[in-house]
Amino acid sequence: MNLHEYQAKNLFKKYGIPTTTGKLLTHSSQLDDILNTLGEENLVIKAQVHAGGRGKSGGVVLTKDKKEAKEAVNRLLGTRLVTYQTTSQGQPVNSIYIEKPCDIDKQLYLAFIIDRSSQRVTIMTSIEGGVEIEEVAKNDPKKIMKNKINPVVGIMPYQCRQIAFDLGLDDNQVQQMIPLLQNMYKMFLDNDLSLIEVNPLVITKQGDLICLDGKVQVDNSALYRQKKLNEIRDETQEDSRELQAEKMQLNYVSLDGNIGCMVNGAGLAMATMDLIQTYGGEPANFLDVGGSTNEQRVIEAFKIILSDRKVNGILINIFGGIVRCDVIASGIIAAVQKMKIDIPIVVRLEGTNVEEGLKLIRQSGLNIIEEQDLDKATLKIIELTKGK
Ligand code: GDP
Ligand code: MG
Repeated sequence: MNLHEYQAKNLFKKYGIPTTTGKLLTHSSQLDDILNTLGEENLVIKAQVHAGGRGKSGGVVLTKDKKEAKEAVNRLLGTRLVTYQTTSQGQPVNSIYIEKPCDIDKQLYLAFIIDRSSQRVTIMTSIEGGVEIEEVAKNDPKKIMKNKINPVVGIMPYQCRQIAFDLGLDDNQVQQMIPLLQNMYKMFLDNDLSLIEVNPLVITKQGDLICLDGKVQVDNSALYRQKKLNEIRDETQEDSRELQAEKMQLNYVSLDGNIGCMVNGAGLAMATMDLIQTYGGEPANFLDVGGSTNEQRVIEAFKIILSDRKVNGILINIFGGIVRCDVIASGIIAAVQKMKIDIPIVVRLEGTNVEEGLKLIRQSGLNIIEEQDLDKATLKIIELTKGK
């Protein structure tokens, strides 16, 4: 789960991390009040969406006077912002954060991430922060420094000093950087975060450090115990099918293709998607219906797959280990009958009770194609959906 920038900044403040303070606007009628408080001149208008790259796409606007502020708010609020980090549909702009601008001398990059290979929270920093950080990472990766935190001893003052020296900070800034990093690590752990990214971490003209942007990700698996964070979750920023799937305890990720996939097991699901791509098709989704699936879950899975209008055929690939193939077959038959599904469905069943399962499908008289060879099943669904 992602937080909005303003929510991230509220969390920074709670942990004594220096950041900017603004006013949140969710309706244009609130603008006059905000201008009365912040002053009309020189403001930064920032669209609140779960995506970076706003600066490059008109989602961060520096305004000089009331007229410009109004124009920026009216242009952004209620629309969808497309950045290089969003889909082509973009993200809805339902709120805007308005701040006084800060005088930037230098823009640094700072992030706390989990490095899965070393199993350590890792601090990434760069002198070259700002909107071109992806370019720096691509063309000049040496400019991005990494420091791993030992989970037993935690973040050490010498590490913080090292990071500060490597960023070329002066004495005063080093003294600010040490508590900033320590507090951020505490915030990371306390809140079960999987990412904090501050880009830019600014050195102001006055020489102080301040977090000008904040991207925070909470580990979804920890939301059950991070109740306060769960309450501020903004579901309007999330893919509605993925949300629905999560509520049904299905693992679903929507993709750009046209072939719906229903598979049990994440590994098999990924292998199935790979195979579709290898044979020239495009999967519409990743969907793991889980190892202990039943008829009801199969029906829910169909609903989610079919709510994607791009889907014009479905490949079902089930290996009956714990789950029995005949149970799955009944689920598929029930779903096709109840939902009157009329697009091609190719089913590949293997494992426990496969014969019974296949028999049920054949006897159903429905237009479900069963094919036990996975390559052939994949080629079949591609053939049936191509150019349709
Ligand atoms: P992002 O593009 O979504 O990452 O949004 P950011 O919050 O990082 O803003 C993008 C860029 O806008 C920053 O890198 C700055 O160059 C600029 N910007 C944002 N806030 C301010 C500000 O208060 N003052 C000035 N001068 N520039 C700002
Ligand atoms: Mg940024």
